[in-house]
Amino acid sequence: MTHPLKAAALRYAAKGWPVFLLGHNKRPVANCDACRDADASHDREACRCLTCHGLYAATRESRRIDIMFRLVPRPMLAIRTGLASRLVVVDVDPDHGGEDTLTGLVSDDLCPPTLLVRTGSGGRHLYYRHPGGKAPCSQGRLGPGIDIRGDGGYVVAPPSIHPRTHTAYEWIRAWPVAEMPSALVKACQPRPAPAPTPHSSAELGHGEGITSPQRLLESLLATIARAPEGKRRTTLYGAARGVARMVAVGAINRSDAWAVLTEAGRNAQQTERETRTAIQGGFHAEGVTL
Ligand SMILES: [Zn+2]
Ligand SMILES: [Zn+2]
Repeated sequence: MTHPLKAAALRYAAKGWPVFLLGHNKRPVANCDACRDADASHDREACRCLTCHGLYAATRESRRIDIMFRLVPRPMLAIRTGLASRLVVVDVDPDHGGEDTLTGLVSDDLCPPTLLVRTGSGGRHLYYRHPGGKAPCSQGRLGPGIDIRGDGGYVVAPPSIHPRTHTAYEWIRAWPVAEMPSALVKACQPRPAPAPTPHSSAELGHGEGITSPQRLLESLLATIARAPEGKRRTTLYGAARGVARMVAVGAINRSDAWAVLTEAGRNAQQTERETRTAIQGGFHAEGVTL
């Protein structure tokens, strides 16, 4: 009999949604030695490894999906969001006030009925069609307890089993994927960062001043790769503080900062929650709102 998770993976792939596997504890699968040791010029999007680089391994090819399931024991299934799948998912976390926020969004017609998942921890995922252009991931931008999973993001998909509650993620509403109302698209866009000041580089203490997200990512990945495994969380937190200072002076915008740090956390095999906590903690410590 086909593994129910694999059957689901093949079904999602057939819909055009690229899928990949997480470890049973929701952590990204560790990279192979070659990818782990690769420098920042390694192209994760083009890398053909089956399970390296988290969401960059996402695929719609049934043969790759088949092998992935042989490589990862007790996996969780994830769907890559953003342009790759043409999905944007509103992630409601009831433990942080997400249900109340959602009630407001629904009554303002920002979140119309759509395809819906109940997560293994009692949250909800509302699936919307990607509007084209940019739909960045964000956290708390629409209100407490609501995250947006768009470009460069992913969601855990049914029927994965949540590692803590041992409850399955489940489709609870078979609506088609609704369009995002334009007000929701607008609400998801990052607020413009303040204009950079001429003192940015000096204040940061970087002679060269890292202003491009790509270069920032490279430098963060290198720093975190050098950190021993047990120190990666604190290293990520330290990196988040550094990035928060850059956001504060307008050297990088918030959504780029978020994307870069999330990618760095993923690369360091941190769970989404650990990564988010490190980022929030780092920004909070610097007095910068996300
Ligand atoms: Zn690899
Ligand atoms: Zn690779």
